[in-house]
Amino acid sequence: MGKSENRKHVQRRNALADKLEERGIEDQNVLAAIRAIPRHEFVDTALENRAYEDTALPIGAGQTISQPYTVAAQTELLNVKKGEKILEIGTGSGYQAAILCHMGADVYSVERHEKLYHNAKKILSDLGFRPNLKLGDGTLGWSAYAPYDGIVVTAGAPVVPADLVEQLNIGGRLIVPVGSQASQVMVRIIRVSENEYDEERLQNFKFVPLIGEKGWD
Ligand code: SAM
Repeated sequence: MGKSENRKHVQRRNALADKLEERGIEDQNVLAAIRAIPRHEFVDTALENRAYEDTALPIGAGQTISQPYTVAAQTELLNVKKGEKILEIGTGSGYQAAILCHMGADVYSVERHEKLYHNAKKILSDLGFRPNLKLGDGTLGWSAYAPYDGIVVTAGAPVVPADLVEQLNIGGRLIVPVGSQASQVMVRIIRVSENEYDEERLQNFKFVPLIGEKGWD
């Protein structure tokens, strides 16, 4: 099992969810998931005290667990409904996957770093979550289980990866940060029919790079 859960953790999670709501997160299912998932389980013990700050934190291999506001904003944009099949690219710590599992999604997640893949698998399993995890290059999606109702990319891409667009269901949403390695704009693509897509460019964010065949070198 992971670290212990105490009243202080619950209070800090509630305070964090209140703060995210003040910052503009409206989806009550997303806020409920933030209140429920023990983010301190997904970071090193030395960083446990900072787990409920609205900030990204290191998780090893030069990677980060995303800032809670970013997780909440991406999840809200995904517009997740119970039972939907959701693909995440960049499992990282496993925190975003846990949020999606808590919301009742059927979760698939791909990570390219072996150590992070194994760590996330263990933490998620200890917490009772069983998403489908894969070690590999997520810029190619996960075609074996396509199409998806939603795809969320948690690393910054140089361009929208075409394979991910192709793996969307009709009505499916792709949320992907696109830009330079210094800053990206959040792009939401909705597949409205077999050959038609709506694309919106939203807020700016800063993610670690999406590295792979259809990403950065
Ligand atoms: N969603 C994660 C969480 O909840 O902790 C945050 C992930 S971190 C900001 C981005 C992750 O994307 C890193 O773990 C990185 O190794 C991973 N990544 C980068 N390029 C990737 C690729 N092509 N395929 C899969 N994972 C990738």
